[in-house]
Amino acid sequence: MSVDREAIVVLNAGSSSVKFCTFIRSGTLLERGVRGQVSGLGTRPQLSARRGEALIEDRVLQEGPLSHRDALDLLVRFLQRELDGARILGVGHRVVHGGLEFMAPTVVDAATLERLERYVPLAPLHQPHNLAAIRLLLERLPGVPEVACFDTAFHRTIPEVAQLFALPQRFAAAGVRRYGFHGLSYEYVASVLPSLDARAAAGRTVAFHLGNGSSMCAMHAGRSVATTMGFTAVEGLPMGTRSGSLDPGVLLFLFDEMGLGVREVERLLYHESGLLGMSGISSDMRELLASDAPAARLAIDVFTYRARRELGSLAAALGGLDAVVFTAGIGENQAEVRARICADSAWLGVELDPDANRRHGPRISSARSRVSAWVVPTDEETMIARHVLRVLG
Ligand code: ADP
Repeated sequence: MSVDREAIVVLNAGSSSVKFCTFIRSGTLLERGVRGQVSGLGTRPQLSARRGEALIEDRVLQEGPLSHRDALDLLVRFLQRELDGARILGVGHRVVHGGLEFMAPTVVDAATLERLERYVPLAPLHQPHNLAAIRLLLERLPGVPEVACFDTAFHRTIPEVAQLFALPQRFAAAGVRRYGFHGLSYEYVASVLPSLDARAAAGRTVAFHLGNGSSMCAMHAGRSVATTMGFTAVEGLPMGTRSGSLDPGVLLFLFDEMGLGVREVERLLYHESGLLGMSGISSDMRELLASDAPAARLAIDVFTYRARRELGSLAAALGGLDAVVFTAGIGENQAEVRARICADSAWLGVELDPDANRRHGPRISSARSRVSAWVVPTDEETMIARHVLRVLG
């Protein structure tokens, strides 16, 4: 056992799972330790963890639901054992909403927690779990700083004109405006871009975060200037199970003419739409690509069509385009989806190199492409750990 090793723990507490990752600090470098998750909290909780590629833990914790509190307690004990005496410098938490006031990662105390509670109504599915984890860790690890890292913070550079909905001003004053999400992922991409393409890093880039949740972000000189997600993480692209943007009139029709209740519409928009809803087969792009059912092709067509439309819109917001970057599950792994989006965007100056695209890059554009194209595996955990180190000085 060593007494001088220092560790950072990263937590992402969601509605049915708590994901975790540890880093050992070595000077200014961060070396990844264990990563994994407690999943299936509401059904059949399971703990799985890997060190590198090796599976070191994979067990069902109990038959039947486990509370978030009990799951976190169990996780703290597991992590303390895995850290083997290393001192925890700080815990970084992914927190979905920091509103307009939290523009950067913040050390959380009781007063900050109270301020963060105000954003629960803006992200009722995620924020309560994020905050409950911070509250419990403050109790269990007294003296260890808890650092909140926000999915919204990276987008606080978006100009007012891109944040406002065309509603009477009192609604914006009440918080109804575009915030944007996936900020930690975009911030990571922005941190990698200078080493790949200095011109694009200083210029105009559109990043595609295409996973279960999907969004796109326009960055100018590494700062967010527009993004497809807005007031909530349901705006923008169609996703695994989320609808993406709808004509607001559709909602009125669902309520008035089809007699749906608020919670039914919520379930429809978040859990029953997107790729799953359109295909009737799966929310998983792999399964849709492997299927020859017409509904699966249609779902992929709508997804790539919307991505192309949004690329044109974000390029317009930027006034031009120097690079596109693909990240997250679909963006990193699905050459066919990237190829389709880029083929449709040839008019913007994007030309892929098909072999490089099949190999997943990192550079996937041809030598003569005016707009460079890249695959960058995202790493929100490293981004959070870097923030913890920086915030704690
Ligand atoms: P989340 O948004 O929950 O973090 P991911 O980023 O893993 O999820 O994205 C999930 C999507 O990415 C699914 O549609 C899946 O088909 C796709 N995906 C994830 N991993 C791979 C892979 N190795 N190969 C192909 N597709 C993948």
